[in-house]
Amino acid sequence: MEAQRKAMVAVVQAYGVTDERVLAAMGTVRRHRYIPEGHRGHDAYGDHPCPIGHGQTISQPFIVAYMTQRIEVTPGMKVLEIGTGSGYQAAVLAELGAAVFSIERIPELAAHATAILMDEGYSGVKVKSGDGYKGWPEHAPFDAIVVTCAPAEIPEALKRQLKDGGRMVLPVGAGVQQLVILEKSGDTFTEIPDILVRFVPMVPGGAGEGGGFESN
Ligand code: SAH
Repeated sequence: MEAQRKAMVAVVQAYGVTDERVLAAMGTVRRHRYIPEGHRGHDAYGDHPCPIGHGQTISQPFIVAYMTQRIEVTPGMKVLEIGTGSGYQAAVLAELGAAVFSIERIPELAAHATAILMDEGYSGVKVKSGDGYKGWPEHAPFDAIVVTCAPAEIPEALKRQLKDGGRMVLPVGAGVQQLVILEKSGDTFTEIPDILVRFVPMVPGGAGEGGGFESN
């Protein structure tokens, strides 16, 4: 698996990810472990998304690395992730030293991600099942927010939960989406359009709301 991981990092690098720390984190996190049993027939280290059940996917390695690079994670940074999915992106952020808070609307995926993150030693990552559109006000403000499902527009609650000087990286739109980097400075938001991407849609309403699942 280590050789496969090295090959994956080489591909991500060839596609233009230059941040050495991000590349090292991608070389460390055991991606195959985040794919639930029953979906492990796929090549976990190929540069493509893989199914993780419930109609969802673990993102392509290049996209994970690219978005992580755009967030410019430094140790101790507080990062909110919307769309925990397999837990892989959260693990990469944690490997870079971020304090990670991640929200997933499907309770079974939130439970799976929590279990595997614990098992892989990232017990500091907080995962909850709920509606990402609401963010996580109890832990706001965040230095950075990464959204791994695509809303039609940038959710207002997430903008409010961004720290002054913080940035959000997210895909916006339907079908083929545009990655947007949003920077907050005082009351001013600057939107920087980036590459075209394809994520699953950000679904309104949390399936796990109320009696939902919360870890840590
Ligand atoms: N970051 C993930 C990839 C997630 S795929 C990984 O590394 O594996 C996108 C995830 O967003 C799916 O699991 C989907 O259930 C979740 N999602 C969609 N709409 C959401 C919402 N409103 N709130 C929270 N999560 C949502």
